[in-house]
Parts: sequence; C-alpha cells; structure tokens
Amino acid sequence: MVVIDGKQIASKIYDDTKKEIEKLKTKYNQSPCLATIVVGNDESSRVYVKRRGKICEEIGVISKVYDLLEDSKEKNVLGLIGKLNNDENVHGIIVQMPLPKDINEKKVSGMISPEKDVDCLNPLNLGRLASNDETFAPCTPKAVIAILEKSGIKIRGKDVIIVGRSKIVGRPLALMLLNRDATVTVCHTKTENLEKHTKNADILIAAAGSPNLIKENMIKENAVVVDVGINIVNNRIVGDVDFENIKNKASFITPVPGGVGPVTVAMIMKSTVEAFKRSKV
Ligand code: NDP
Repeated sequence: MVVIDGKQIASKIYDDTKKEIEKLKTKYNQSPCLATIVVGNDESSRVYVKRRGKICEEIGVISKVYDLLEDSKEKNVLGLIGKLNNDENVHGIIVQMPLPKDINEKKVSGMISPEKDVDCLNPLNLGRLASNDETFAPCTPKAVIAILEKSGIKIRGKDVIIVGRSKIVGRPLALMLLNRDATVTVCHTKTENLEKHTKNADILIAAAGSPNLIKENMIKENAVVVDVGINIVNNRIVGDVDFENIKNKASFITPVPGGVGPVTVAMIMKSTVEAFKRSKV
C-alpha cells in the first residue's frame, strides 16, 4: 500500500511554477495576479484564502483579496467582478464559495470572464470541459488527475467511481476521467446501494463531504482510493474515507490532510500562470 504524499507532489509543482514565473517576469516585466473575492463570514474560507495568499507570495504570484461584508449587495459583487474582468493586471479571478444566501451563485459565476476563470466557475468553461477542452478545468479535479498521473496509476479502461456530483468536483472530474478513457460512474445521495458501486471501483474518488462514508467493506482489494473530502470532526480535519481501516486494503490512498488539498492549491497557481500566458498571446 502506498500513502500518496500530496505535499510532495504540490512542492514539485511549486518549484516548476516558480521557475516559470521568474522567466515570465523577465520577459513581460509583469507578474501573474490572482484576485480572490470573499463575501461574508465563512471562517474556513478566510483561513484558506489567507494560506493561499502566502503561497502566492512564495512563488511570485500577486494575490489581491477583496473581502466583502456578509450583507454586500449582489450588484456590488457583480460590479467588482466586472472591474476585475477589465483590469489587465489581473489574470485569474476566484469567487470563494459559499456565497451568502441573498447572492445568486449562478449569476456571479456567469459574470467571471471565461478567460480569467481559473477555477471553472463560469458554466461556459464547464461546457468546454464537456467537449474535451480542459483549458479552464477546475483545480480540485485537476489535482485528482495530477495525483493519479504522477503516481503512475493507469486511468484508461479502469472502472472509476466518484461519490459526489457537485459542479466544482464530481461532475467536472467525471468529464476529465472520460476524456482519459475511464469508465465512470457518478454516485450521489439518491444512489441506491452505494456499496454495490464502490465495491466495483478500480479507482474510488470520495467527494461527498461526509466523514467516514467510505468504509473498508465498501472497497475491493487493491483499489486506488482518493479522498477529496474535508470535514471537521472534533476539531480535527478528516476526509470521507475511513483511512485507518482502509489503508491496508487499498493499493494507493490519499490522506486527509496532506492529500488532494495541497495539490489543489498548487493547481490554482499553475492555472493562474496559464491564464497569464494566454493573456499575452
Ligand atoms: P457539495 O456539498 O457541493 O457536494 C457533495 C456531493 O456529494 C453531492 O453531489 C451529494 O449528493 C454527494 N453526497 C453527499 N453525501 C453523500 C452520501 N452520504 N452518499 C452519496 N453521496 C453523497 O460538496 P463539494 O463537491 O463542494 O465538496 C465535496 C467535499 O470535498 C467537501 O468535503 C469539500 O470540503 C471537499 N473539497 C475539497 C477540496 C480540496 O481541495 N481537497 C476542494 C473542494 C471541496 P447530492 O447531489 O445528491 O446532494
């Protein structure tokens, strides 16, 4: 059994990205810039965005954070996105989800310029993904694919089961795996007999946000298990997988924390640099 080290994978991506940024800076006399909009009081969003800002600083990406109040009006959020869309010093835009309930998530996502939409929030980019164009693929699914590929795990022809069908993780990930010739099944809360599906997985990807959902009796011997879930239980971060009891049955497994999370942040950096480069073509 191999416990996949997400931090190590992320660190290699940072090294490569940092070197690339240095070259781009010399060539264009400008650095890639990622703008993040946070609306409201979601504490975990704040912590996450702050941590991401530090990484930006370390590798040479300019980070601009727009921290808006919980009672901000939708039109103000849309107005800010419009301004950032037109700012040629901003190359990537992320609106941190969830948004307060009075703000329409669909409208906000659709307002982000598709060319700066580094986490694939705009439905246009999800559509591109469905037609095999991964230019603006979202960062968590990208991280899952990077983990599989960098660990030498074969995807083509394999039975892949994803638990979770959200727009930012399960759905786009299913498309990306199809693009790589996997046979993909997507499960969700209405799936009858989840275990029947998970037991069939050569590669099982848990992205439900439900602690301990995937138990030892739900996987087959030597399955690859990727845990995307982030849950807080008794002040500890845990995934969706019963790691301790599954680890000896799986051939590869990602831990939480230290698995998909760090690689996702690395992918945001990489996508911002890619958006920067495209803005120069
Ligand atoms: P959502 O809540 O948007 O979606 C969860 C999905 O899982 C839904 O499709 C839901 O089904 C399904 N689901 C929930 N519970 C069950 C269950 N018991 N059985 C079967 N399916 C279930 O979450 P996200 O996609 O945004 O995130 C998923 C998890 O990944 C969260 O823990 C989140 O924190 C984490 N995450 C981690 C990231 C990382 O970098 N590591 C980045 C982004 C998210 P239905 O559609 O029927 O409701």
